[in-house]
Amino acid sequence: MEEYTNQDALVLFSGGQDSTTCLYWAKHHFKHTYALCFTYGQRHSQEVENARRIAGMAETPFRVLDASIISHLAPNSLTDLTMRMDQEKPADSYPNTFVPGRNLLFLTFAATLAYAEGIRHLVTGVSEADYSGYPDCRDTFIRSANTTLNLAMDKQFVIHTPLMWRNKKQVWQLADELGVFEIVKNETLTCYNGILAEGCGHCPACLLRNKGLEEYMAERER
Ligand code: ZN
Repeated sequence: MEEYTNQDALVLFSGGQDSTTCLYWAKHHFKHTYALCFTYGQRHSQEVENARRIAGMAETPFRVLDASIISHLAPNSLTDLTMRMDQEKPADSYPNTFVPGRNLLFLTFAATLAYAEGIRHLVTGVSEADYSGYPDCRDTFIRSANTTLNLAMDKQFVIHTPLMWRNKKQVWQLADELGVFEIVKNETLTCYNGILAEGCGHCPACLLRNKGLEEYMAERER
């Protein structure tokens, strides 16, 4: 891709595998990188503290924004402990881990902050490959949101999605190429049950992460 070594980027950052890979990707491509983390009543508050810790390791300024209004509006199993989390995508709808409007809200907040700080580039770890098919992780949505934010704020933001066409195996590969494979493997928190690194091993996030890791390791050791 084009290098932006004289420009700044704001990364939507949760401290999970994907956004941590994106954080280091941004550090590689931009002059200064900033991390923005959202709280929205996730089951595990240590997610934010872990994100703060990783940003510290990456020497990246870290900011937390409260977006918990989204959970009041949209019941979902990430924030509502009384809901049983769907293990798979139901045939005719999205799993209850889907939080309607979340990524649109997060991108709007991120762009608003970027506007105030004079930052043009936004980076998010959404992906179309290998996921539950959330509509706000698709490329079409990101392009549309980018256009809308530019029109809304009369700016030329660029939303970067380095993981858009990568499956989990390829996300591990990218971390390795960036020289942060061990950091992503050992320090990130992806598990829906709040367990660091390889996680609980049985929630949907762990199954996806660990399957990708196994596939990548098989390839790497060849
Ligand atoms: Zn898990």
